[in-house]
Amino acid sequence: MQTNFSLAQLADADTAESEKILRACVHCGFCTATCPTYVLLGDELDSPRGRIYLIKDMLEGDRPASARVATHIDRCLSCLACMTTCPSGVHYMHLVDHARRRVAATYRRPLLERLQRGLLAAVLPRPALFRLALIGARLLRPLAPLLPERLGAMLRLAGPPMPPSRVGLPQVFPALGLRRKRVALLTGCVQQVLAPHINEATVRLLTRHGCEVVVAPGAGCCGALAHHLGNSAPALAAARANIDAWLAAEREGALDAIVVNASGCGTQIKDYGFLLREDPAYAAKAARIAALARDVAELMAELGLARAGQPSGKRVAYHSACSMQHGQGIRRQPRELLEAAGFTVLDIPEGHLCCGSAGTYNLLQPAIATRLRDRKIGHIESLRPDLVATGNIGCMTQLASGTGLPILHTVELLDWATGGPAPAGLDL
Ligand code: SF4
Ligand code: SF4
Repeated sequence: MQTNFSLAQLADADTAESEKILRACVHCGFCTATCPTYVLLGDELDSPRGRIYLIKDMLEGDRPASARVATHIDRCLSCLACMTTCPSGVHYMHLVDHARRRVAATYRRPLLERLQRGLLAAVLPRPALFRLALIGARLLRPLAPLLPERLGAMLRLAGPPMPPSRVGLPQVFPALGLRRKRVALLTGCVQQVLAPHINEATVRLLTRHGCEVVVAPGAGCCGALAHHLGNSAPALAAARANIDAWLAAEREGALDAIVVNASGCGTQIKDYGFLLREDPAYAAKAARIAALARDVAELMAELGLARAGQPSGKRVAYHSACSMQHGQGIRRQPRELLEAAGFTVLDIPEGHLCCGSAGTYNLLQPAIATRLRDRKIGHIESLRPDLVATGNIGCMTQLASGTGLPILHTVELLDWATGGPAPAGLDL
């Protein structure tokens, strides 16, 4: 695509990067077929190609974001299905990230939206605050039908906080038997409040497979929540804090990997090198940390399951999170691990389409998110599975709000199949 930027505009690193991305697009429109919002809404401006035109126009004209641009950018899930489909290698993720920052900096949102976004940005990355907010939301839930849609969605989706787990605290878990690897584990923010058993299963699984697992002091939220809200400064601050924490852990012994068990966070950490490329103090360190990041399924595929599980007889519908399949290109490993662990793995029709979770999307765009969830649940239930497995806490919460099927993290099943406890809530 031809672009029209001045040299002064291209002196800005973000604009220069976006220009390169725009020039790679050949307007073929292949991406529209796999874009969830285009599939649902049928509006070209809610397709990747339409959004690319809107972003190009805004950036070239050096214009503040209009309400129209903000609407169509906000409706984008950042699911990245378009990147998987695009034959020209258009890096839509970096382009829409730039657009979100431009919207955040130049568009004044209606008051309710500003309040909601401010609340999410302040609460979600802080586990203690999030725990309190969940308790409050559960008490206020009966009021949900009386509130505006987006506030009601926040109350409806608020699950019960679980008792805190000691696994989230800084410490070192020694390998069982011969040490094969030394890894740092991101224990996250939202996940350790909603489902601390995921980190517990991850530690059991990794230590059983010869990993020493370090929970580094000072590591916390990966920054993705702020990043997707267009809030660059807190997102980069979170990245720098994690980099410092993991490099400090590395000074006490080489790290073979930084293990992430929420694929939304994994996509973010693998992009740290790009996000901090203009920071002379952090660029090299960020690239090093990004190169060490592995989804837990990637690491387990490398290690191999120590003991193949006995067939459990369970039929597992495997939901590949968008951040797993499109964001990180991890498709084969979780399925193969579940099969090696003795489960019958079922592929969900339209598996490339988002479930509507997408970070805070289900809170900010509840109507579209609910349509996507119900479509996904319909496909899942058509398979008549015993349970659903996935590798991202956001998808787990979203799917659980629409079905009575057990929704488990892949590591819970791998842990169970290799000697850990049976996951809670499973009909044995
Ligand atoms: S598939 Fe790629 S090249 Fe074609 S319109 Fe979409 S982003 Fe542009
Ligand atoms: S990221 Fe997803 S929702 Fe956004 S344009 Fe691409 S396919 Fe569509």
